[in-house]
Amino acid sequence: MARAIKVAVLPGDGIGPEVTREAVKVLTATGLDFEFMERQVGGKAYIETGDPLPEDAKEACDEADAVLFGAVEHHYAPYGIPRKVLIYLRMEKDAYANVRPLKLYPGVFPKHSAPTWKDIDVVIIRDNAEGFALKHEGHLWDDMGVDKRVITQLRAQQVNMYVYNYAAKHGRRKITCVDKSTWLYADRLFRSAFKKVEEAYPDIEREHLNVDIAAMLQTQDPGRFDVVITPDIYGDILSGVVIGQIGGLGMAPSACIGEDFAFFEPVHGTAWDIAGKGVANPIASILSAKLMLEWLGEERAAQAVESAVSAVLAEGSVRTPDIGGSSNTSEMGDAIARNVETVTPSSVAELQKVETDQ
Ligand code: ATP
Repeated sequence: MARAIKVAVLPGDGIGPEVTREAVKVLTATGLDFEFMERQVGGKAYIETGDPLPEDAKEACDEADAVLFGAVEHHYAPYGIPRKVLIYLRMEKDAYANVRPLKLYPGVFPKHSAPTWKDIDVVIIRDNAEGFALKHEGHLWDDMGVDKRVITQLRAQQVNMYVYNYAAKHGRRKITCVDKSTWLYADRLFRSAFKKVEEAYPDIEREHLNVDIAAMLQTQDPGRFDVVITPDIYGDILSGVVIGQIGGLGMAPSACIGEDFAFFEPVHGTAWDIAGKGVANPIASILSAKLMLEWLGEERAAQAVESAVSAVLAEGSVRTPDIGGSSNTSEMGDAIARNVETVTPSSVAELQKVETDQ
């Protein structure tokens, strides 16, 4: 008998626990055999135990097949302490490629939407390992602040290689490298790594844009973007533009992928303004769980979750307030979980059992 899929669940602070709960609900609805190992990390963990990253959480991450993460930061914890968790997950576990598939779903009409936005389906992949990463060198004096930004050939080539492989595997047609290499030396190196790798993938269309032009084009003609690769902060800023076009942070999932470790988290943070009110949109977390299923090779289950999110949004009766409805967080999660159970011809687990038996 196949062993259960072990998932370390780190809900964290703010709306992290509320949205992660719904993602676990949807994963359970796929019918796959999961063992969830829930551990406390972040500000609350720091206040209760003195450590934002207790040893049992690290052990769960080491033991798990994948990690589902919420968000960390806490009003009452000293600044930066909960960030220890992110430094551990992103840098110490070396999850160097931050993958953000951003898509406008049917039935979601963002405020100020433009007719051209119907085509938005872009994957922004950001270099998590270098540049202004969580651990970069910086100094703050009374009259001066300095941040040192380093990009190395080895790491730039590694993330660019990941992006080309990603595009080939997912049948994507084009990659756009976005940076500011007209001005910045480190970006020139990043761009040269992009060009070195491209020779190995002649069939994928590619282009290079400065970040200011890319942001402008994303608003004028979003259909031109397919996969975008960027060093560090440009990915954050450009995703902000796209996220505004797809309905907001409640709709934006992400995966942080390394060679043999990955964790999955919504792009949003703790959102304390809505925490505890039951109104957070869990779709970003649910779609992050879908990315986890894909990474684990559970394609059918991933597809079932994707179809369920699409179907529930298109049908339109269940929606959280951020996307124009009045449903609460768990109603949104319930509707998607129910759809996962029924949308597939038979349950995902049964289909997989048939495949294994054949
Ligand atoms: P952090 O400091 O942890 O990054 P933040 O509150 O500054 O947190 P986000 O958590 O990313 O930043 O959210 C910004 C705003 O977007 C929130 O204040 C909230 O109003 C909205 N928001 C974020 N996530 C969601 C969600 N899942 N559902 C609805 N609204 C959300």
